[in-house]
Amino acid sequence: MRGFGMRKINDVGWIEKEKPVAGPLDAIIKPTIIAPCSSDTHTAHGGSGPKVDRILGHEAVGIVDSVGELVTRFAPGDYVVVPCVTPDWLAPGVQNSRTFSHDAKPFGSFKLMGQKDGTMAEFFHVNHADANLSPLPAGVSPEAALMTVDMMSTGFHGVELAEVQYGETVVVIGIGPIGLMAIAGAALKGAGRIIAVGTRPKAIEVAREYGATEIISYKDGPVDKQIIELTHGGADKTIIAGGNGETYTAAVRATHANGIISNVNYFDCADQLNLAALDWGLGMADKDIRGSFCPGGATRINQLLALIKYGRIDPTQIISHRFHGFDKLPEAFELMDKKAPDLIKPVVYFD
Ligand code: NDP
Ligand code: ZN
Repeated sequence: MRGFGMRKINDVGWIEKEKPVAGPLDAIIKPTIIAPCSSDTHTAHGGSGPKVDRILGHEAVGIVDSVGELVTRFAPGDYVVVPCVTPDWLAPGVQNSRTFSHDAKPFGSFKLMGQKDGTMAEFFHVNHADANLSPLPAGVSPEAALMTVDMMSTGFHGVELAEVQYGETVVVIGIGPIGLMAIAGAALKGAGRIIAVGTRPKAIEVAREYGATEIISYKDGPVDKQIIELTHGGADKTIIAGGNGETYTAAVRATHANGIISNVNYFDCADQLNLAALDWGLGMADKDIRGSFCPGGATRINQLLALIKYGRIDPTQIISHRFHGFDKLPEAFELMDKKAPDLIKPVVYFD
């Protein structure tokens, strides 16, 4: 079969592979729509270490092609939504973790692209199908469902980590698709003031639609200074969904005592996260710094799909580009990689 992936760091293209085979608990999925992600481009440039001949992609909705003999809930032909994090539910430690993302080791549950070939292929493999696949609900479009598997799940997780309360002032740093979903999630959780940080005009427009009350630019001077001035002392909660090592420092500074700094950003191996003791209240100011990964498994996705089905959110506003045809994968990947000014999130329909 054919897939699009990284042959080595900074070298992407078509890769020929054997079609994967389902073990007893697994399924093989034929994707019908996928989405490239910032994490795919990070990975292709070596952001998570060297990988060779690895098909990229970890976001997909598709049709079950085959299942292992122990799979009971799914059968060939079923339309399914696949979380980007697919835990091994038998791994030691996974069941008492908060997100199920680190099954046998850190990021252990991030299997698609992380540890095996991903979703940018004619077929891909999903472990523990019964616990990791969700049926596509009636009334939810495949592209809306596709937004749950990483964008909504990760953005909303930033909000969960931040424990957003009614009326709070929440800062969301980054208004790519993850930050935009964090804004929408913070609004759903009852945040009062939502200050978003970013510059791309299209994303700013969507940020306002999802509930941002103010937008500031990191190009207009240090973000922490701007936030402290606007809020007269700092935000209640700061969610990091973009930026670099300096953004981390700025986020901690911009959050007042008793606040929570919640990170879902993917810092690069080369980033340094520096923090002066004073910025962290000399270690005694109850500024809680948290960082986490997209939660895994089917229950999470079922809950996010319910938010769409019952009209609480329309995540398709973050889709800025739609491609049709498997052969469009390189173009969609390049668009993601180059980050065109009007880009938020591309999707690729395989038909
Ligand atoms: P994007 O690249 O689309 O968006 C990044 C945002 O950060 C943009 O709004 C950009 O601004 C802003 N930004 C860039 N530089 C700075 C800076 N120096 N200071 C402040 N803001 C800045 O990313 P995504 O939304 O796709 O993803 C966000 C992050 O989340 C990525 O690192 C991604 O890899 C990670 N991620 C993490 C996951 C997890 O499980 N924890 C899962 C999936 C993704 P501008 O508007 O100017 O472009
Ligand atoms: Zn992703």
